[in-house]
Formats: sequence, C-alpha cells, structure tokens
Amino acid sequence: MSAYHPLTEQEAIEIARTVEGIFPEGAALQSREIGDGNLNLVFHITDPASGKSLIMKQAVPYAKVVGESWPLTLDRARIESEALILQNELAPGLVPTVYKYDADLALTIMEDLSDHIIMRHGLIKGESYPKFAEDITTFMAKTLFFTSDLGKNQQDKKLLVKNYVNPDLCKITEDLVFDDPYTVTDNNNYEAAIEDAAAALREDGELHLEVALLRAKFLTSAQALLHGDLHTGSVFVTKDSTKVIDPEFAYYGPIGFDVGAVIANLVLNYAGQGHWIQDPSELAKFRGYLIESVRDIWTKFDLKFRALWDEHGVDRLFNSAAGYKDLYMKSLLQDAIGFAGCKVVRRIVGLSHVADIDRIPDAADRERAQRLALEIGTSLIKFNRKADSIEEAIDIVWSAA
Ligand code: ADP
Ligand code: MG
Ligand code: MG
Ligand code: MG
Repeated sequence: MSAYHPLTEQEAIEIARTVEGIFPEGAALQSREIGDGNLNLVFHITDPASGKSLIMKQAVPYAKVVGESWPLTLDRARIESEALILQNELAPGLVPTVYKYDADLALTIMEDLSDHIIMRHGLIKGESYPKFAEDITTFMAKTLFFTSDLGKNQQDKKLLVKNYVNPDLCKITEDLVFDDPYTVTDNNNYEAAIEDAAAALREDGELHLEVALLRAKFLTSAQALLHGDLHTGSVFVTKDSTKVIDPEFAYYGPIGFDVGAVIANLVLNYAGQGHWIQDPSELAKFRGYLIESVRDIWTKFDLKFRALWDEHGVDRLFNSAAGYKDLYMKSLLQDAIGFAGCKVVRRIVGLSHVADIDRIPDAADRERAQRLALEIGTSLIKFNRKADSIEEAIDIVWSAA
C-alpha cells in the first residue's frame, strides 16, 4: 500500500474503502482513533448510512506507555493477524474475523466488535457473563491442544514455532512479570502506601525461587502457541458471546500461562470489588460468582483438553503411557496457579496496572485492594508446585484477609 507511517484518521478512511464487500461505493465514512491499549493505534471506521463498520489496528514502532525510548518491532502486527486467523480456524467464532493485513503499514483490518464490551469494564460494573467460562475454555483448549506436540504433527509444529518467534513482546513479559516486581527498577509503579509490601517482595527468598522456576518455564517451555496476553482487557463479551482480541504477544510457551492469565484477572477483580460493591451481601454474591468462574475455568479446561487428547492425540507414546495424561494435566494446573500469582503481583507493583483496582477513587479502599491482591498473588506463587486441585487455589483466595 505505502511505506510505514502512523496513519491519520483520514488516511484510515481511504484504506478502509479498499476492503472489499464492507462499505457501499462512495459511502461517507467516519473515522475515530479509539485505542486505549498501551502499544497500538485502533481506528473505528463507520458508515452511519449503512450501519457498516470495521476496525483497523496499527502497530507503532515503540511502546506508547513508555514512549519512543522503548522500541518495539512492527512484526507484532504480522504475528497478531496470523494468530487471529489461526485461532479462528482452531476455535471458530471466538475471535474477530480478519479482513485484511498490510505488512508495510503493520495494519490489521478486522471485524468491529463494538456491540460487545471489554470484559474488564463489565466486571467492574458488577456484570456477570454466563457464557464466558464455557467459551474461554473452548478457546484455550482448542488453540493450545492443536498447536502442541500432543495434537499437531511435531515437524509441522516446529515450523509454527519459527513463525511465532516474538522476542520484543516476550521481553516485555520477561521484565514486567518475571523480574521487575522483585527488584528495584524505574519500571515499577506503586503507591507509597504499600512500600512495605513492595519491599517484602524483594526480600522473600521462597518467593524468588518459585518466580525463578516460572520464569524459566516462560523462557524455555515451548508447549503450545499461546495467546500470551489473555487478560480480561483482551476479551470482548456480551451475555451470550465471547471474542478474544489482541494476540500480539503470541509465542510458543507454557500452556499454564494463558490459563493463569484468565484466573489472575478474575482474582484482581475480586480484590477490587471490595470497593466497587459496598453492600456486604451483594459483594459476597459477586465474589462467589468470580470464584465459581475460577473453578469452572480450570475444570472445563481440564475436561475439554483431555477430551481433545482422547480423540485427536497424534503421539503414540504420549497417548498410551499409563499415567502420563494425569501428570501432564497436574503440571498444567500447577503452572496456571503459579503464573496467575505472578500476573496478580505485577499488576500491583509493576509498570502496567488494571482499572479494577487503579480506578478505585478512595485511597484506603485502593490500598486494601492492592494488599489483598498481593497476599493472594504471593500465596498462589508459593503454593503452585504443591497444588493437586483447583480447590486449594480457591481456598487461598477465600481465606485471604
Ligand atoms: P492494544 O494491543 O494496544 O492493547 P487492543 O487490541 O487491545 O490494543 O485494542 C485496544 C482497544 O481498541 C480495545 O480495548 C477496544 O476498545 C478497541 N478494539 C480493539 N479491537 C476491536 C474490535 N475488533 N472491535 C471493536 N473495538 C476494538
Ligand atoms: Mg475500550
Ligand atoms: Mg489490548
Ligand atoms: Mg496488545
């Protein structure tokens, strides 16, 4: 199309016209940049007359949140568009349809999901999503199983690994999730009120050992093609629909990282609800729903992943070795619990936070939520290798003060 440059709203309109089969000839298109993420531009292009619309997401060559001092490859736009296309093949209907990808402009043109709401925003308002656990576990089980050595020809898998080598985006996770919270660095971002709790993270040897083990898995365990950033801000929902967006962090990594990301963000909302829902019985009810969702996420994922393995397992020995499947699933559970803990901790003391807690206007309520999240997060991390069932992780959440 043309050499890379960040698009203006007007240029976005001209490009939108070139997508076949969406807008009527000569439509009076409107364009608005709506990106609320940290890394990219997102243009919403609409034709009020026909009601048709689309989304254009363009990568910029640096992390917006840090500024131009943190360069980031534009190749993540290729990774995102290819991941969305593959996910739509493996888990149909659970991601937006990609209409077009332009490599020169690092631009993905896709289905507009504005009739959905970002799940994090819905949860903050106390909305529940009855289809979410079912859909997200279908998404995870299918995308993870069919890209793993259990469900994919192992030579073909290696070609896919190569296609999703994603060093810049992995470095963000390696630094922000698996290093910064446990040391002194300018990247960290927490309030003076919790300085004591942040300092405790830096001095806890038991915690450091577990984080080191989880970090090593993130760096070396190429189990499956992960979404890589599966928080509730990457999920669009309605009461009866779920769509996963934003897979620019996709790479071959440990399966528990995606499952743990979902659990972590339910836990972060759980901690924040102490402010958002003031009525004690309503609060207990909504927290009960969040806990039930955590339980469902693991149990449904476990069931679906095993069922896919039973039906589509490609590896003779993995399929037949007595006891292997149970050990494999147990290790995924433990990883999910450990990664969930890491993702909770980093959202409190690390660079990038979550609205569930950050937007709490009352300082004392905010501090309570931060301390609760840190207590749960560190307990999950320390417990991960001892876990036998999701119920133990749930007990950790319930029993935190
Ligand atoms: P980033 O990688 O910068 O976080 P996202 O893909 O998460 O970008 O998109 C940022 C925001 O843009 C989303 O929170 C949402 O508000 C909007 N957005 C992204 N994709 C779509 C889509 N397909 N339909 C409607 N809105 C979208
Ligand atoms: Mg938004
Ligand atoms: Mg995003
Ligand atoms: Mg993103």
